[in-house]
Amino acid sequence: MMAILPGATIGILGGGQLGRMLALAAAPLGYRVHVFAPEGEAVASEVAAAETRAGYSDEAALARFAADCDVITYEFENVPSATVAFLEALKPVRPGHAALDVAQDRLSEKQFVEALGGRTAPYRTVETLAELEAGLAELGAPAILKTRRFGYDGKGQARIGSTAEAAEAFASVGGKGLILEGFVRFDAEFSILVARCPRGREVHYPACLNVHEDGILSRTTIPAEGIDPGHLDAATALVVRIADALDYVGVLACEFFATENGPVFNEMAPRVHNSGHWTIEGAETSQFEQHVRAICGLPLGPVGLTAPLVEMRNLLGDSSAEWGRILADPTAHLHLYGKRDAVPGRKMGHVTRLLPQP
Ligand code: AMP
Repeated sequence: MMAILPGATIGILGGGQLGRMLALAAAPLGYRVHVFAPEGEAVASEVAAAETRAGYSDEAALARFAADCDVITYEFENVPSATVAFLEALKPVRPGHAALDVAQDRLSEKQFVEALGGRTAPYRTVETLAELEAGLAELGAPAILKTRRFGYDGKGQARIGSTAEAAEAFASVGGKGLILEGFVRFDAEFSILVARCPRGREVHYPACLNVHEDGILSRTTIPAEGIDPGHLDAATALVVRIADALDYVGVLACEFFATENGPVFNEMAPRVHNSGHWTIEGAETSQFEQHVRAICGLPLGPVGLTAPLVEMRNLLGDSSAEWGRILADPTAHLHLYGKRDAVPGRKMGHVTRLLPQP
């Protein structure tokens, strides 16, 4: 494959903060960025050279967008697979639609990972209330009912404490195309981020220890203290196998539960990931620059830590109003995404601290 050289245009499907930080990382490498996003707030467009506002099924707009781009990526895994397939006929799309197809459906994702030797939570597919009740009888309560498609940040999920809650949970998540997961009694949660080049070379970041609140990432720390290093190595080896099996190009993030019996795979994101935001200041090469390097066929950068301890906290809702206090802290690096409405739970920014002690 010929490298896509600085000066070329990178197209990004999706206009959120991940696209914004990708565009900010592409600029120092000399790339132009063109953002394709549906109507509505698109904070990535504010830092891009060009934008297209159209729906993901608008083929005329997609064709014009592709004509302006040398390579296309996505910052949002719910882009329709058909959109990516349409664009792939016109320009390289990295990662391609294979990764999206697997990651967009929690069932195919689990089956794919199991076939590669990974462990997942026990699960049953659910289309009817009777199937949910049967699944609960087999897996036991508590359990988590999730939509197979289009869930994110804990949305499209219901925790079921006992069989008596089944009907309400079934109604609350939409009542079909569901998966019931047995509750994993984990000691901690962590993620592994791997970057892979078109010719297959990979690098991986140190494992990220993640704390979620209400299903949303709250805090990430590196190094992932307290998790068996052998379990982290096993999870990393699995993510590399996943990337190889998909012939993946770009940054791939996988989330795991740490248990005493080893890592349990939770889900993958075929894109840069919230648990990798710390890499902007905390790693020698950020996940965003690494993704740009990978999709353009440039050499990947080093992934070492720049401080003994790195901590990232998400700024959700009106907690972003704390920016004055954060700026007064010399260890802190503030990122605000430029979103207008600080709705509770909305990711408005993040803060990364580089600290002297692990
Ligand atoms: P997800 O959207 O699948 O990543 O779920 C969001 C969060 O809910 C996870 O990070 C966990 O904290 C929790 N969670 C999801 N699935 C399970 C499970 N099967 N067992 C225990 N906790 C879970």
